[in-house]
Amino acid sequence: MRLLIMGPQGVGKGTQAALLSEHYGIPAISTGDIFRYNIKNKTELGVEALKYIDKGELVPDELTNKIVKDRLAMDDAKNGWILDGYPRNASQVEALDAILADLNTPLDAVVALDAEHDVLMERMKKRAEIEGRSDDTPEAIAKRLDVYAKETAPLLATYEERGLLKTFNGVGSVEEIQSTIVAELG
Ligand code: AMP
Repeated sequence: MRLLIMGPQGVGKGTQAALLSEHYGIPAISTGDIFRYNIKNKTELGVEALKYIDKGELVPDELTNKIVKDRLAMDDAKNGWILDGYPRNASQVEALDAILADLNTPLDAVVALDAEHDVLMERMKKRAEIEGRSDDTPEAIAKRLDVYAKETAPLLATYEERGLLKTFNGVGSVEEIQSTIVAELG
């Protein structure tokens, strides 16, 4: 199973990706987590990525596409994966198409999670208190939601046209949402 999980920040992508990973026995790959790991370990990639992440901006495509390409070529990704937080703009969609064509592995589905703006803001505020992410400042949160609306949300139409998009309500119990997704994906 090769899946994308898409939706605005705070909609619960990471939580659902982890459950899908367990259910299908495939890795959940989050570009945000890869960046945060590199920031924590002060790698060259981490130092560069932090400049953008703390402002709520997208890390340049060149860097981001490369980490996805490398990660999808790893052994544990042979039988499938869930990509969380990628692609985030039209040029990343093209890059992913090329990576998948190289690997000869098509996408099975795009899981989109949806929720009202107010619900998202409330969840983001709570997460900021619990996790203390450096990019959970009000300015960075607002910027991230803006980038999502302008650059990422339009990608849903692209995957809809390809017949891959499956949209789910992101509000409700985690378990209920998960079983609805699994029932739909099979
Ligand atoms: P996330 O954990 O998915 O919210 O990602 C945190 C931050 O990492 C984002 O606000 C971006 O700065 C950066 N990031 C994650 N994924 C991408 C991506 N696909 N393209 C560019 N930047 C990304």
